Amino acid sequence: MTRIFQERKAAIATMHGKELVLSPVLNALGITQIVIPPIDTDQFGMFSGEKERLDDPIETLRKKCLVAYEKTGIDLVVANEGSFGAHPYVPFACADEELVMLRDYKSGLEVIKKVLSTETNFAGRAIEDLDDLLFFAEKAGFPEHALILKCGMQIEKGITDIPQLKRNFYKMMDLSDIKVWVETDMRAMHNPTRMKVIAQAASKLEEALNSTCPDCQWPDFTIKKMELGLPCGLCQMPTESIKLKIKICDKCGAREEMATEKKYQDPMNCNYCNP
Ligand SMILES: [Zn+2]
Ligand SMILES: [Zn+2]
Repeated sequence: MTRIFQERKAAIATMHGKELVLSPVLNALGITQIVIPPIDTDQFGMFSGEKERLDDPIETLRKKCLVAYEKTGIDLVVANEGSFGAHPYVPFACADEELVMLRDYKSGLEVIKKVLSTETNFAGRAIEDLDDLLFFAEKAGFPEHALILKCGMQIEKGITDIPQLKRNFYKMMDLSDIKVWVETDMRAMHNPTRMKVIAQAASKLEEALNSTCPDCQWPDFTIKKMELGLPCGLCQMPTESIKLKIKICDKCGAREEMATEKKYQDPMNCNYCNP
């Protein structure tokens, strides 16, 4: 285990209760002094649309970490950034992509880990009557998962009980008389399903921080490259499957090649034997 975190203080750049799943990562590194600085992370974008995210998730994470560092002077910062939308590979599925970053301004270390999950209630639709709304709410895991109602300039976030949901719905229907937009509240403290995915990303981060380079002890000695060309079991020609996984140290460049468990690829997946 690395020693660069010993006797350090850390900050978590969040205003949505993510310390619940991010603190344990820091605790596991031996960090007990954790500060949640009062920073407005909404300035970098909001899921509910009032503020668009301008940068990509990694750039946004760097900005969140820097704000926390500048505000507190604590040079070790952890942050999270989520993105929701259509799944990149699974047709018709929604995905939650959660990134976690640890930034150490003292040593220059930056570690980013990602989880892409289909476990999400991310959804939104126009609603005409109460039955529609209650149906949507049930599918979204309400009331454990909060909802947002929108109508024109009106927005009501963090709705977590039926009376509140009905009251806001009727108020907005009175105003517009057409349709009200309902969507899932994706803020971490209002969305236990999302919090779980952030926890998965956090444990990946923890694992990476504990995987140190055998030569220089720098953290995040993890798989960063794959080499394709696993030979076909019949003709021995290289296939497009992974042959080697390579751990790389970002500090000294040390490498460790790990052969995949499979020695040969099934000829079914060979471009020569089964074109
Ligand atoms: Zn073959
Ligand atoms: Zn190294």
